[in-house]
Amino acid sequence: MNYDYHIIVIGAGSGGLVVASGAAGLGAKVALIEGDKMGGDCLNAGCVPSKTFLKSAHLADAIDRGKMFGLEVPSPVVHMDQLMGRVADVIKSIEPHDSKERYEGLGVTVIEGYGSFVDAHTVDVGGKRLTAKTVVISTGSNPFVPPIKGLDSVPYYTNKNIFQLKSLPKHLIVLGAGPIGSELGQGFKHLGSEVTMIDKSPGIFGRDDEEVGPLMLQQFFLDGITMELGATVVEVRGSEGQIEVDIKREDRICTIKGDSLLVALGRKPNTEGLGLDQVGIKTGPRGHVMTNDRLQTVVPNIYACGDVTGPYAFTHMAGYQAGIVIQNAIFPVKKKVDYRAIPWVTYTKPEVAHVGLTEKQAKEKVPGYKKYIVNMEANDRAKAEGDVDGFLKILVDKKGIIIGTTMVGEKAGEQIGLANLAVVKRLKISAFMSMIMPYPTELDIYKTVGLQALKESFKPWQKNLVKKLFLK
Ligand SMILES: Cc1cc2nc3c(=O)[nH]c(=O)nc-3n(C[C@H](O)[C@H](O)[C@H](O)COP(=O)(O)OP(=O)(O)OC[C@H]3O[C@@H](n4cnc5c(N)ncnc54)[C@H](O)[C@@H]3O)c2cc1C
Repeated sequence: MNYDYHIIVIGAGSGGLVVASGAAGLGAKVALIEGDKMGGDCLNAGCVPSKTFLKSAHLADAIDRGKMFGLEVPSPVVHMDQLMGRVADVIKSIEPHDSKERYEGLGVTVIEGYGSFVDAHTVDVGGKRLTAKTVVISTGSNPFVPPIKGLDSVPYYTNKNIFQLKSLPKHLIVLGAGPIGSELGQGFKHLGSEVTMIDKSPGIFGRDDEEVGPLMLQQFFLDGITMELGATVVEVRGSEGQIEVDIKREDRICTIKGDSLLVALGRKPNTEGLGLDQVGIKTGPRGHVMTNDRLQTVVPNIYACGDVTGPYAFTHMAGYQAGIVIQNAIFPVKKKVDYRAIPWVTYTKPEVAHVGLTEKQAKEKVPGYKKYIVNMEANDRAKAEGDVDGFLKILVDKKGIIIGTTMVGEKAGEQIGLANLAVVKRLKISAFMSMIMPYPTELDIYKTVGLQALKESFKPWQKNLVKKLFLK
């Protein structure tokens, strides 16, 4: 059968762009369909605007803490229009990389419009039908907005419109203390908003190792954020500038009053209008497109990658899965996904970074695993930087091979890279001891943890033997 394209990609976000450019680079004839903005959520309403916003917010916090460094500085005046102007400028500076023009230059046919399945090999875009041997669903996700009483008649922000704010909220109520709620909530607090975060869970950072939640909760308290945990949102009322949220905890209802509301209650995979029924693809309990470990749906020529399929909603995950899809769609030898070394970072202050197994997973999967923890206080550079509220925790298997790492610190997102390589390459914890680290760096903490492991592995009989043979 003759098709128009080898591959049709639906959605030009982090996943779809990689599939399209990679497959075109290998000589495939590719059509890329995008209904909204090229670059998807990461560029337009996710990673890029949020991290740019956080730069200003954490800088404001650093200025506010100037006294600690012997610098008496007045609190910064926040010009929200300029701050968000910078956010827009950074997006603009990256846009060309994800643009229609660039992709067309790479040989990809970019089609504007929403795609929906007609059959397993045919996709409709605005009445035009395209056919391909392989179709890739990379339609991403949107903010999940639950049916809370009153929410639909109250103005609220999500990640889609918060970066267009023109003035600083006086009191921002954040529904959800997950990664997005925590990053943005703390950011607005650092800029000077009063912030109340509400979450039904009794703790925060539940996906991370158990040492993280209490440390970050204490940090949020020190920041002055009001945390309403273990609380269910019952009703939302109000209008522009006057928001009331009723929350219920242990049968008691109380009302939180603020002027702005941010809904950060998780993500909903984008499958509406895709015509999945037309091809017999079902979604899972949380709305994800189900695939096998080769990222193939129940229809063998239809693949999925990125947020729409899960299980991790990160840009680097969408990119990784896209690589697997390219391999499996084009080459006869099929590759399976391997989720053993997935890194993630929550860009709060301090940052929380992780790679590999969590301790909960290690308990289930790795009998005899060991853990080593060193507080940032043990590191000279961290002391000099005033970055002592954190730690490096390394999990190893029985042979000392690193299976997981969690790090909390101001630059943990960068510093987790070393552990990432160690997990991917299955290095032993002793490998850190073979590096000469420049002094003073925070990365030196990896050697401290390596030394701790070495000391612990040194048995009393070995010490006695050394004493007897060499230290007479
Ligand atoms: C506030 C926020 C901060 C984040 N920060 C980080 C971070 O720091 N690091 C990180 O790794 N991840 C971060 N993420 C997550 C990251 O943005 C996503 O994991 C990533 O964008 C997923 O890529 P994707 O290709 O699956 O989907 P997307 O990037 O969302 O792209 C999907 C595209 O498909 C299009 N589309 C949908 N349906 C159709 C259709 N039927 N036809 C045509 N086009 C369609 C959409 O318009 C969209 O452009 C953040 C997310 C948010 C919301």
